[in-house]
Amino acid sequence: MSELKFTEDKHVVQQTQKSPRVEIKKDKCKGCRLCILYCPTKHLKLSPQFNKKGRQFVEPRETTGCVGCGFCFSMCPDACIEIYTKDEG
Ligand code: SF4
Ligand code: SF4
Repeated sequence: MSELKFTEDKHVVQQTQKSPRVEIKKDKCKGCRLCILYCPTKHLKLSPQFNKKGRQFVEPRETTGCVGCGFCFSMCPDACIEIYTKDEG
């Protein structure tokens, strides 16, 4: 069961029972879509909402899972994405 929510620091968070947790700093995101292009599971998408920069930001899909490959983390030019495995709590 997945859950999409906003934390107090306005990161978009998805946590599932099986997959790693993806955190995106939505107000740092400039919507360049590099992370979307490189995600092998199509887990990321542009939100219909806009951030403080006036850009559509990236958020995880509720219907797909993250495999923890780190491609999105590596590709983001603004270090907006963090990936956490279960081992990291
Ligand atoms: S870590 Fe890999 S699978 Fe997970 S959201 Fe990023 S690119 Fe997609
Ligand atoms: S690569 Fe970074 S800045 Fe570009 S859309 Fe993804 S999270 Fe936003």
